Amino acid sequence: MNMDDYRGVWVFIEQNEGVIASVSLELLGAGRRLADKRGVPLAGVLVGHGVQPLASKVIQYGANIVYLYDDLIFKDYRTETYMRAIIECSEKHKPEVILYGATSTGKDLASAVATDLATGLTADSTILDVNEENGLLEASRPAFGGNIMATILCKNHRPQMATVRSKVMKSLAPDKSRVGEIIEESVALQESDLRTKVLEIVRVATPKIRLDEADIIVAGGKGLGSQKGFDLIHEFAGKIGAMVGASRDVVEAGWIEHDHQVGQTGVTVLPKIYFAIGISGAIQHIVGMQNSGLIIAINKDPEAPIFQSCHYGIVGDAFEIVPMLMEAFEKA
Ligand code: FAD
Repeated sequence: MNMDDYRGVWVFIEQNEGVIASVSLELLGAGRRLADKRGVPLAGVLVGHGVQPLASKVIQYGANIVYLYDDLIFKDYRTETYMRAIIECSEKHKPEVILYGATSTGKDLASAVATDLATGLTADSTILDVNEENGLLEASRPAFGGNIMATILCKNHRPQMATVRSKVMKSLAPDKSRVGEIIEESVALQESDLRTKVLEIVRVATPKIRLDEADIIVAGGKGLGSQKGFDLIHEFAGKIGAMVGASRDVVEAGWIEHDHQVGQTGVTVLPKIYFAIGISGAIQHIVGMQNSGLIIAINKDPEAPIFQSCHYGIVGDAFEIVPMLMEAFEKA
């Protein structure tokens, strides 16, 4: 393999029923930064049926090129059809990097493509950088139960690939004046060549809450002491129009459902304001909320690690501090 033949940064544009996944827009922002650092083009690979109208949006969000696979065979996501598109496109145009959202589709597709192309894949990345000289992608992710950040390199294979968590990269503001090239591509696949058929799509009930879309989150931890103590979090959140978040220990104690869990094995959030109340600040929690605009921690232990990761820290008993805050908000 001559690695110098590979040039350009790509983003797999995940779409569902004609709506581009927000993580793909975030990756166009991240991809733009990497491509600019390398001085190479950024491309979006858009696969689906009836998705042609989305191509201009991909350009508005930062791509120079859109490789468009618009065919009935791509109507529903199937690993074997989508991987064919990415593999053939990659073999033809040779990108140095391909990024995917760390969604169930992105994870499924990226691992199948990586296996077929015999290249490396960093899963669940939260930080991306690139060496501007040699194009080596530096994809970092929490490892060893979140105790360290591992930077994973793919030195001898191309394309380098990574799946990236949603809400950790920032999308660019769409720019309607941005121009780009749309290149229509196709794969020689017949339905009869395929081993899978989509018989029915069963929609899972949408989660009751979308913590990852909240502007304000009041999150509570084991320091609240009991399910009854955790009611203070609901009350405070209700007063200020926030959504309720929780640490894993709270979820495991059964005080609240898993939809509310913030962190490595929960949701990654990006609110404007994040209150961490009675939460110790374990790394597995921090990785899920560290990019919040303003982090306010309340903990009675002045040595609690959460105080290393907040903008404002209040040392004190939640059952004294939170009522005082609620009173102050009521007066304001
Ligand atoms: P604790 O660690 O028990 O902390 C309670 C805190 O409350 C303490 O700091 C204490 O000083 C304070 N406190 C006590 N009483 C009061 C009071 N009255 N007022 C104010 N403060 C008080 N955790 C997550 O949150 N999210 C994850 O996604 C996640 N994923 C994980 C994945 C793996 C593989 C592993 C190994 C762990 C994971 N964890 C996760 C668990 C994580 O390591 C911690 O155990 C967990 O975050 C601790 O929860 P906590 O802060 O609520 O509880």
